[in-house]
Amino acid sequence: MCLKFIWLLLSNAPSLWVDWHRSTHLHGQSFWTITANDNDSWAWRKLLDLRPLALRFCKTVLGNGQTASFWFDNWSPLGQLIDHIGPTGPRRLRLRDNAVVADAISGSSWTMPHPRSQMEVDLHAHLTTINLPLPSDVNDEYIWVARDSSFVDFRSSTTWEVLRPRQEIQNWVDVVWFKGVIPKLSFNMWIANYDRMPTRSRLAAWGVAISPSCPLCSNFDETRDHLLLSCAYSQSIWKEVFVRCNTPRRAFTDWSELLSWIRATPSKKFSLLRKIATHAVVYHKWKQRNNLVHNQSSIPASTVFNGIDKEVRNIISARRYRKLYDSLMVLWFKIKFV
Ligand SMILES: [Zn+2]
Repeated sequence: MCLKFIWLLLSNAPSLWVDWHRSTHLHGQSFWTITANDNDSWAWRKLLDLRPLALRFCKTVLGNGQTASFWFDNWSPLGQLIDHIGPTGPRRLRLRDNAVVADAISGSSWTMPHPRSQMEVDLHAHLTTINLPLPSDVNDEYIWVARDSSFVDFRSSTTWEVLRPRQEIQNWVDVVWFKGVIPKLSFNMWIANYDRMPTRSRLAAWGVAISPSCPLCSNFDETRDHLLLSCAYSQSIWKEVFVRCNTPRRAFTDWSELLSWIRATPSKKFSLLRKIATHAVVYHKWKQRNNLVHNQSSIPASTVFNGIDKEVRNIISARRYRKLYDSLMVLWFKIKFV
């Protein structure tokens, strides 16, 4: 229950409780960094103690980057960046600790020194997948993600009613979060499931002056489903995946068909293999698309597939001692050579 109070506070839901706490305790400071003082109530301190737990669930989907805290909000797959990069991060990256994400951007590029540690390389790698400039008229949003089997979206809640949670069990949760998942891949998959990727057609719909057409084929608008499923470029990647994971009865036309295909197997292992492969396809496909859009770097679909193949093999191989993963490699190869 306390976690939901935290959610209310972060999501800035209009309620007396939130207004009172914001004015009494936060004074414009971040909930993640504020320290308790002796006069604070027991309940408030309890909330502060729960912060590490809340962080596991509370993610930020970037809009214009004007409110998301660069160091303390959970807006990248790396978790809190102050934790990932370390306490010297603000000095190293020349971004004060109360910076918002937009402070790290100038025009269409990130303003950050060259990475000097693996942690910073990870961050840079993630930043390349974000389209710049950020859309100016979309606000940053907090999203509540419960990893087990429910996904709770409180965003539309506006009153105390939220305390009786409206639990929507999304039908894709098991496809995004599962044992052995790779955070950077599942993060992308999560955004894709939510249809929140900044594709050209979404950017155009937000009023950004940009052609909505697909950068890969120019024949259709670049929607999530076109880009990741039905574009000819994507189809040739999927074809290779199908050789290893069995072909669906018909080509995917929308996202729900992809989700059905992932589950349409009686074998848990096979379903796991399809999930891993799908995560890799979505991640590598999106990365390549960004490469093309931002760096004009075009590579053939077969090269993208090679990256996916390597990623899938690495994932399986690193987890081969886990129960469900032990024979996945055979599965991924066997079908290929039959
Ligand atoms: Zn296309």
